[in-house]
Amino acid sequence: MALVVHKYGGTSVANTERICAIADKVSLARQAGDSIVVVVSAMSGETNRLIGLAREITERPNPRELDVLLSTGEQSTIALLCMALEKRGVAARSYTGGQVRILTDAMHNKARIMDIDTARLDAELNSGKVVVVAGFQGVDRDGNITTLGRGGSDTTAVALAAALKADECRIYTDVDGVYTTDPRVVPGARRMKQLSYEEMLEMASLGAKVLQIRSVEFASKYNVPLRVLSSFEDGEGTLITREDESMEQALISGVAFNRDEAQVTVQGVPDQPGIAFGILGPVADAGIEVDMIIQNVGADGSTDFTFTVHRDDYGRAMEILRSTGDKLGAREVSGNDTIVKVSLVGVGMRSHAGIASKTFGVLAKEGINIHMISTSEIKISVVIDEKYLELAVRALHKEFELEQAA
Ligand code: ASP
Ligand code: MG
Repeated sequence: MALVVHKYGGTSVANTERICAIADKVSLARQAGDSIVVVVSAMSGETNRLIGLAREITERPNPRELDVLLSTGEQSTIALLCMALEKRGVAARSYTGGQVRILTDAMHNKARIMDIDTARLDAELNSGKVVVVAGFQGVDRDGNITTLGRGGSDTTAVALAAALKADECRIYTDVDGVYTTDPRVVPGARRMKQLSYEEMLEMASLGAKVLQIRSVEFASKYNVPLRVLSSFEDGEGTLITREDESMEQALISGVAFNRDEAQVTVQGVPDQPGIAFGILGPVADAGIEVDMIIQNVGADGSTDFTFTVHRDDYGRAMEILRSTGDKLGAREVSGNDTIVKVSLVGVGMRSHAGIASKTFGVLAKEGINIHMISTSEIKISVVIDEKYLELAVRALHKEFELEQAA
């Protein structure tokens, strides 16, 4: 008998009709003999509605009270789903995060799970019940309700699967899996049968639409097999696991991209110790996250420094750099907020040379200029002009034959 955690997102429980459809699904799986823990999100739009209510009262709601408010979204769905299950003759019981004691730190609105007490869950499962747990929430040591950040129900599901040593954690959502790239850009994009945690993390920009990336980190840490699949259609979805030798290894798994990037450059700063720290320190102090970083080989005692930041942070980053640039005697500070990052991801790269040069060849053939390059063992990323995004993704997807069945 398998122990499986199911997680249903907001669109899957958007109204009572859908909740009943989910109850049918859970009921079938239960009849087939699985032990089941269900984690649900709030009905779609509900979390935003609640945030809106809070904002009608105050610009900056007290974080503790906001968590008390937001946790009600998920509390409604667990009760409704249990009613629907019982109506179908399935014994079920709902629990809030606090009741199962999903213990978190005290960081309201973005709490991290520290521990889960499984005693109560084990007892319910042993008595044959389906346990329905509210996603996205927990409780701190002092008993205050906390929430885990937007999309946090995925992390609840994975954390429960880890704590219960479940056989699989299934994330049911409105897409039927993880694709080789965004099908809106490449209509021939293919659903992947399987990929590794590492690849999924590298493809964060694609995957983030499907599940909270923090949940993948969690799954990887505790080795929880994670499956993304559709709540509306049958299918096996995409299985995300530890990299395993027997995996039929495609050279390249997917082409991810990120439109939210901007590039900033400081030219002609003295080539001496402390320069990188001098430039990036103030950026980090302002809470701005830096992605790719490139420093040139120094010439004539000076060097250039380029990095990318989230596009929303571009204005602030430029401001900071202009003032740092002045202090460091930089020749010029420049920037570009119409660039994108395109990444080729695949564990197969580890054992194959020449992927990078092939990638650059494809882009050259299309006349696409590369501004920045960075590589890891399983990823090659390039920064290019935004206007070439679709062209680059399509050309790479085609060249590496991602449309063909693996
Ligand atoms: N309801 C929360 C949100 O909308 C958590 C979740 O759905 O995962 O972000
Ligand atoms: Mg979600």
